[in-house]
Amino acid sequence: MLGLSFWIWVAFMAAWAALRYPAMRRARKQKTARDNRTPLDIFLLTLCVVGLSIIPVLWRIGVFHGFADRAQNPWAIAIGVVTGIVFLWLFRRSHKDLGRNWSVTLEIREGHRLVTNGVYSYLRHPMYASFFLWGVTQALLIANWVAGLAGLFAIACLYIERQAREEAMMRATFGAEYDAYCARTKRIVPGLF
Ligand code: SAH
Repeated sequence: MLGLSFWIWVAFMAAWAALRYPAMRRARKQKTARDNRTPLDIFLLTLCVVGLSIIPVLWRIGVFHGFADRAQNPWAIAIGVVTGIVFLWLFRRSHKDLGRNWSVTLEIREGHRLVTNGVYSYLRHPMYASFFLWGVTQALLIANWVAGLAGLFAIACLYIERQAREEAMMRATFGAEYDAYCARTKRIVPGLF
């Protein structure tokens, strides 16, 4: 059981990487008009890579020596598969809707357009919402309290640091258009928050 849920997690990771790769390649060609990257932002992105991929692998190869292991149960795996599928769907949708306006850090591209359609008509941060779902998926599929929750922890840190700065950057660029967009959307939970 322990082995199976780890490999399901690996399959989700591989699917995520396959979806991300073309966007990364495309983004390299897009010129930047305003760069709001900070060393803290880069550090937190690195923390996400560590929390979402390296720590679960270290756990699997036995580095934890059983520390903080928990019993795996079939319900956790089943719910993890469902959240994982929703995560991949939302991640793909938000990438498609953002298109050439996407970047891994905080940047305004040349010719940047404010996207308000598709999943962006409900949420301002659907891609970050998808990452929270990824964190939940990892917590359910990785049967260890530390390695399981490491992803959620890293994503929460990135989100807390970014959300206000990203919205300030968008407001400085799009002004009243962005204010009106904020007035009719939520951040990461439709209708709630
Ligand atoms: N916060 C969004 C986007 C994450 S990618 C989400 O979670 O879905 C980060 C980049 O997306 C930022 O550098 C910003 O330039 C861009 N961005 C964020 N919201 C946008 C929007 N509504 N329209 C166009 N670009 C946006």
